[in-house]
Amino acid sequence: MITRFAPSPTGPLHLGHAYSAMVAHDMATASGGTFLLRIEDIDQTRARPQWEAQIYDDLAWLGLHWPEPVMKQSDRISVYQDAVRMMWNQRLIYPCSCNRKDVLAAASAPQEGAPIIGPDGVVYPGTCKKQGQRRGPVPTTAALRLDMSKADVTSDLAQTAGDIVISRCEMGTSYHLSVVIDDAAQGVTDVVRGEDLENATPIHILLQNMLGLPTPRYHHHRLIRDENGKRLAKRDDARALSKYRSEGVTPNDIRRLVGLPEV
Ligand code: GLU
Repeated sequence: MITRFAPSPTGPLHLGHAYSAMVAHDMATASGGTFLLRIEDIDQTRARPQWEAQIYDDLAWLGLHWPEPVMKQSDRISVYQDAVRMMWNQRLIYPCSCNRKDVLAAASAPQEGAPIIGPDGVVYPGTCKKQGQRRGPVPTTAALRLDMSKADVTSDLAQTAGDIVISRCEMGTSYHLSVVIDDAAQGVTDVVRGEDLENATPIHILLQNMLGLPTPRYHHHRLIRDENGKRLAKRDDARALSKYRSEGVTPNDIRRLVGLPEV
């Protein structure tokens, strides 16, 4: 069994991240398998080296082990670009120059009914789909969206997620594309992640099918919430692992706090 923890270095790890990493780690080690770490830093406007360093430090403090070198998504843009080119050549994706405001405005038009909120926010109503050119070199100055009508979907993904972004022009990839390519490249057999990502999983399975990649087993764990029942976010510095550490809390205290057996 190969599991992984794939944080983005855009803020401090909090109790929820610790729980996710420990569940994935415990699952791999219980089966004699391997736990991997992957740094998801495609958003270079938000990723910071100090957060990456803190991730290694916090996870090692928790007692987790992983093989080196650690895969970093920012090193793999050319691999993602190869997949984008393949999808472009198959005319599965089209350029879209709408920004968030355009998408919201188009989705709110009277003939569209109420905007549907999908895994990536408002479901794209397909404004650029008709005029979007699909020949020639891969466009580099627009986002590229998946034409769901070309995808072999038996579920209601076309309605619930719509034409998701496969490549943002400033990144040359997207979360969905990178994650499926990397899970396959690393031989991940079991993806262990929070139930907040449950609605991304059908998208990932669809992309695996389109790209000829294997589908791992998916496990979605409960989320760690604060005393008001709100799920923890990166900005919840009060729950940052480093804060607990500075207060003298032990790794087993963290395990107890999130309801995992001590080691
Ligand atoms: N990088 C994602 C995050 O920080 C997690 C990716 C995944 O588990 O699929 O939320």
